[in-house]
Amino acid sequence: MRKNIVAGNWKMNTTLQEGIALAKEVNEALAGVKTNCEVIICTPFTHLASVVPVVSPNIGVGAENCADKASGAYTGEVSAAMVASTGAKYVILGHSERRAYYGETVEILEEKVKLALANGLTPIFCIGEVLEEREANKQNEVVAAQLASVFSLSADDFSKIILAYEPVWAIGTGKTATPAQAQEIHAFIRSAVEKKYGKGIAESCSILYGGSCKPSNAKELFANPDVDGGLIGGAALNASDFKGIIDAFN
Ligand code: PEP
Repeated sequence: MRKNIVAGNWKMNTTLQEGIALAKEVNEALAGVKTNCEVIICTPFTHLASVVPVVSPNIGVGAENCADKASGAYTGEVSAAMVASTGAKYVILGHSERRAYYGETVEILEEKVKLALANGLTPIFCIGEVLEEREANKQNEVVAAQLASVFSLSADDFSKIILAYEPVWAIGTGKTATPAQAQEIHAFIRSAVEKKYGKGIAESCSILYGGSCKPSNAKELFANPDVDGGLIGGAALNASDFKGIIDAFN
């Protein structure tokens, strides 16, 4: 059956030294603990090669983005191959901050997802509506349109990705979707996957919830049948809070 996953998104936080210290704290907090979920930490590009060797192989490491081009004259960009060469195994793609501030479109994200997969990285592909879309009850059509970036994949490639539903109005705001709201849209997302790829792939696809998830609300969110874990922003910057969320699966 599908995997439960708790993934941290550090965003543009921590210097390299602070990031290494945080990775070590997460590693120590989880040492000898039998977690009932996979654990991933996604860090700034600059930290990846230093974080990979300081965490146990049980903790996956990922980037927060990669380029939509394979290589060449794209000053300042970091390719999927470069990310993979650090030992990182995951990459967050389509985060709402990338869509909103860096103009990432469905088409650009489709390229990024393909390059990530071609380089052996597992995309954690984010979708989610903004507040006005939720208030207009348009959340289902918004996430369905965003899924177009990954619905051009072969069934084999799609089965390698992780989805993350992150309502933009809940990210970093302290406002969490209610467990019922999360379950409703996760079930919708799974039904969209089923329509496209069939029941087997839909049932094995991990769909994470993200948006002000913390130790105090993780258990009730993750208890929903279609919520398979979380993508964690703010609370991933504190090892004991991050562990508290992981413990929601115990
Ligand atoms: C995120 O940005 O992926 C996120 C879920 O952030 P936060 O947990 O801080 O709301």
